[in-house]
Amino acid sequence: MPDAYLTFLSITISICLLLAAANLMLAMRNIGSAVTLAFALGYAAMALTMAVAALMPVQGPLPGLRLALVNGLGAISMVGLWSGLWLRAGRRVNARFMGFITALWLLPVIGVIVFSPGSSAYAPFATAAVFAGIVSSVWNLYHKGETKNAGDWALIAWLTLVLPVSTVVLLVSVTLGRTDSQGLWLSYLAFMPTVFTGVGLFALLGFTLDVIQNSQKLALTDGLTELFNRRAFDRELAVAVARAQRYQRDLTLMLLDIDHFKKLNDTFGHPAGDAVIRSVARVLEQSTRRIDVVARIGGEEFAVILADTPPSAALRLAERLRHAISEAGSESIRFTASFGVAGLDEGHQDPESLLKAADEALYAAKSAGRNCVRYAADPERSPDNFIGLVNAKPEPPTVPVSENQGGNH
Ligand code: GH3
Ligand code: MG
Ligand code: MG
Repeated sequence: MPDAYLTFLSITISICLLLAAANLMLAMRNIGSAVTLAFALGYAAMALTMAVAALMPVQGPLPGLRLALVNGLGAISMVGLWSGLWLRAGRRVNARFMGFITALWLLPVIGVIVFSPGSSAYAPFATAAVFAGIVSSVWNLYHKGETKNAGDWALIAWLTLVLPVSTVVLLVSVTLGRTDSQGLWLSYLAFMPTVFTGVGLFALLGFTLDVIQNSQKLALTDGLTELFNRRAFDRELAVAVARAQRYQRDLTLMLLDIDHFKKLNDTFGHPAGDAVIRSVARVLEQSTRRIDVVARIGGEEFAVILADTPPSAALRLAERLRHAISEAGSESIRFTASFGVAGLDEGHQDPESLLKAADEALYAAKSAGRNCVRYAADPERSPDNFIGLVNAKPEPPTVPVSENQGGNH
């Protein structure tokens, strides 16, 4: 056996062991656990395959045993990797398919060992099995949907690049019915570990990007409602203000705060309070456009950034939301919210002063008796006086804590 081949096998074994260890560590930290476990198994089996190939000479005393070990371990490693790739694509592993490609590979190997030791007539079948695994994995990964990240695209691109080479080897070996051309076969055997090293690296890239994206999402998301949190809101407001000024567009900010929430917590308990916060969040999400930014910016305080929306439209929306929130409770728990609305205008040109104006309008709504909307430009009056709203008067208190009516914010 040429030294170069042994060197190549040693390097491959090391890389496979590293990939197996890396995936095992990720699995133990519950990162992509099923996928990383399957990969760990796949790469460990691949390292063993290469070790047997390196340690047992081709012309050794037990060619049958060598064939059985190399191909058996090879099949296990392939099933591990295909399963990992299928799981990564969000598909359940199809046991029948995995069984089929394993049989396609191993039955001819057994036939060769029993009937014609030394022949390589199994090679086209093994090649076809690997080919089927690659095609199915590319297909599944491609159909993974919107959650594909750069790692998944790299896997798809890499395995697609590999396909023409695999096709040539498959066609040649099928045409010959065996692998007479040792050069071709050895190149293929050398090529495959390179392919799977790439698969392992790109899969690791995919997991890493998943973790980064998840932590970025966590940093900007409120855990209770899954709305944007305060940090995300500040960022979105700064961008929205800059954009509105740059393109001379309308921008309105709406703040709302659940009325008498402390009392509601005290009466029904904290979990019930949390449920109220969640149901207000759902009303806000369902009644606004996709481009509106809805955030939970405090305990029971929310904000909606309305791009391209003049204050008159925002006030109508606020009335609609106020009404929807007052209807969102149950027989036993009713709740309402107060709203402050402010538009980007001469007096309010930056995020801070816009926020302050909306907050003052909200304060005015609280002072006016709650469950109502106030506009920063005219906080004394109910909006129906100047935008022709009907039914904008504060409704009778529906909160089970009416004794606090009229108090301050
Ligand atoms: P007002 O009508 O003037 O807004 O009265 P309020 O009782 O709602 O006033 P305030 O804003 O002072 O009360 C907010 C309360 O919300 C205080 C706090 O105990 C509660 N709270 C804050 N965050 C959470 C949360 O995540 N879950 C629950 N259940 N309660 C919270
Ligand atoms: Mg409140
Ligand atoms: Mg509050």
